[in-house]
Amino acid sequence: MPEHYTEPVTAVYSCMAGTNQKKPRCIALGGTIAKQVSCGMYELRSSSCKEVQIADEQCNKARLAHHMLPFVQIDTDEADNDDSFEYVS
Ligand code: SF4
Repeated sequence: MPEHYTEPVTAVYSCMAGTNQKKPRCIALGGTIAKQVSCGMYELRSSSCKEVQIADEQCNKARLAHHMLPFVQIDTDEADNDDSFEYVS
């Protein structure tokens, strides 16, 4: 990763350049926010990038900073079959 892709947060920790802002915009993010974006180094992204999941708090915080509606997490657990269900025709 190019050195200018990161910026220090503390003496020990660093982050992707542009992500430690009120209105975050990672240096590796390509495209137009709210239209279509992609990570320019997806395969090489850091573990902290991998921790962010769609619709989680950090994802939605960034969306709100760009005036986008938050995503809503949907429970994707398999539904149980209701064996007593009867069709009405
Ligand atoms: S996933 Fe890619 S675009 Fe998003 S913060 Fe990480 S390096 Fe930047």
